Amino acid sequence: MKKPFYRLVVSLITLAVLAAACYTVPETGRRGFSFFSPNQEISLGASAFEDIKRNEKISTDAAHNRRVQEVGRRIALQAEDHMPGVPWEFVVFDGDDTINAFALPGGKVGVYTGLLNLAESDDELAAVIGHEIAHVTARHGTERMSRAMAMAAAGIGLGAAVSGRDEQTQTAVLIAYGLGSTVGVELPHSRRTESEADEIGILYAARAGYDPRGAVRFWERMMEVSAGRASPPEFLSTHPSDTTRINNLNRLMPQAMEEYEKATGRRLN
Ligand SMILES: [Zn+2]
Repeated sequence: MKKPFYRLVVSLITLAVLAAACYTVPETGRRGFSFFSPNQEISLGASAFEDIKRNEKISTDAAHNRRVQEVGRRIALQAEDHMPGVPWEFVVFDGDDTINAFALPGGKVGVYTGLLNLAESDDELAAVIGHEIAHVTARHGTERMSRAMAMAAAGIGLGAAVSGRDEQTQTAVLIAYGLGSTVGVELPHSRRTESEADEIGILYAARAGYDPRGAVRFWERMMEVSAGRASPPEFLSTHPSDTTRINNLNRLMPQAMEEYEKATGRRLN
């Protein structure tokens, strides 16, 4: 095969793979991409969650479990249209010092008792669970993995492209690329997915009948807790809370309040 033709074929295949992998994020309308199908996400998440459940202590506290199941079920119902047939699972893990919650692809959500103690009202807990459920329906987990896979593939391509150059140039280009792919692309992407999950999550929570103002209260509380600690809670290390986050939530508030009033049949203010 002649080289230009070969290149054209490779580009076309790449485009086809990327197009097939594209999806639209609910509410924001952003085009995301994931190499994994929703069914693959479900089995990936399920097996990772089994590992976590084997290694962490599952809480038997009836009140904690009732609370998380109730809030989780009500919010997951609002996500049904965006991602039908997800085998949602909400598990409470023991750990009063662990202020954390997480979601795995395919609808597996874990909440630690430390976070439950901090989220005083169900409205606040709904902000966290809404956010985590939004990560699932926006498919942020496998999108991140897919981006890493695409970067690695691009890195191999780049390696091939500079292979004729002297060793110093090769190293310089590859190091710059390596730094660029973590700092330049991955960090903004994770900040963007964070605010996207806030945006979708606050709407889910409001439609489920939880007061969206609980989200602002929760993130402010996280900032207070963090100020009194030597090291920030686990949740804050992956979910930085600052005035940008709170301003963003306040910007979304009028729409969320409208959804909340519709869901509860109450007029507020
Ligand atoms: Zn998040």
